Amino acid sequence: MLRSTLLYLSESKKLAHWTMKMGVSRRVAQRFVAGETLEDAIAAARTLNRAGYTVSLDLLGENVLDKDGAIRAADVYVAMFDRIAAEKLDGNISLKLTRLGLDLDAQLCESLLTQIAAAAARHHNFLRIDMEGSPYTQRTVDLCTRVKAATDAVGTVIQSYLRRSERDVRDLIAAGCRIRLVKGAYQEPAEIAFPEKKDVDANFVKLMEILLPSGIYHAIATHDPRMIDATKKFAAAQGIAKDRFEFQMLYGIRTDLQEGLRREGYRVRIYIPFGTDWFPYFMRRLAERPANLTFFLRNLFR
Ligand SMILES: Cc1cc2nc3c(=O)[nH]c(=O)nc-3n(C[C@H](O)[C@H](O)[C@H](O)COP(=O)(O)OP(=O)(O)OC[C@H]3O[C@@H](n4cnc5c(N)ncnc54)[C@H](O)[C@@H]3O)c2cc1C
Repeated sequence: MLRSTLLYLSESKKLAHWTMKMGVSRRVAQRFVAGETLEDAIAAARTLNRAGYTVSLDLLGENVLDKDGAIRAADVYVAMFDRIAAEKLDGNISLKLTRLGLDLDAQLCESLLTQIAAAAARHHNFLRIDMEGSPYTQRTVDLCTRVKAATDAVGTVIQSYLRRSERDVRDLIAAGCRIRLVKGAYQEPAEIAFPEKKDVDANFVKLMEILLPSGIYHAIATHDPRMIDATKKFAAAQGIAKDRFEFQMLYGIRTDLQEGLRREGYRVRIYIPFGTDWFPYFMRRLAERPANLTFFLRNLFR
């Protein structure tokens, strides 16, 4: 109930405007967001690289509804690849298709995505297309598959809460796409998504067991120790080496687990969100864990 309410509120522009003005929200959001500028993200990436992690930079923002905004965002992503190369950072980029105007003009979105993927390829780097809510799933899979046909520098994300995901995983593997496996962060109806956590978790393990032996370099993105243990055990039993896949976690979440995996010799990539448009991302993090909301409210009333 609480999760649904927070996810519903995450789409409210009015609440976003109000919340982002409050100093207390900014302070709490800093736990999950590296800062508002690219400089902030680069500084966080440098620190994490030095500590032995790779990173993925995410310029926050979604559901862009003007053409100029989408084109400007694409220019920023291309410049980010240049900057990552100039700084010699060990990092790639994650983006959302609605930031490139998917809601507005599918052709424009595809052309911008192709340009950004070409920039990634030029730098021998990689672009990850995040997965958004279910109205975008098919279009994301299709676009990723089409752009992948021209360059290996692109991959996407699959959510274990969706009932359709096994089919998508098999299709994307057949197309040679790299996949980041997550549980899923949006509000979805029971007809298309498993409502029970135990089913989401069981599907996560099932999909992980399809991904790892596929010979493609995939990412297992979770902070759930049980999912992590299942992955480690399966990889060891199948003789899949630690450098044939990576774990991914979000900036500021379960740093103890991040550190433990790195010490054990696993590859760990940290997803670094930054930018001024942090409200929906922040609300999804509150929805994932009631303790985060309590922390926020305690600070608000202090
Ligand atoms: C690198 C990365 C990229 C992602 N990309 C996408 C994407 O493209 N599309 C998408 O839909 N979702 C994405 N997600 C979010 C994902 O779908 C889940 O919502 C999120 O990871 C929480 O699920 P979990 O696997 O950590 O397990 P859960 O069962 O939710 O949590 C397990 C444990 O992790 C810790 N934890 C989890 N979330 C939080 C939090 N917010 N604050 C503090 N502790 C927490 C808690 O200890 C919790 O008990 C991404 C996640 C990661 C790590």
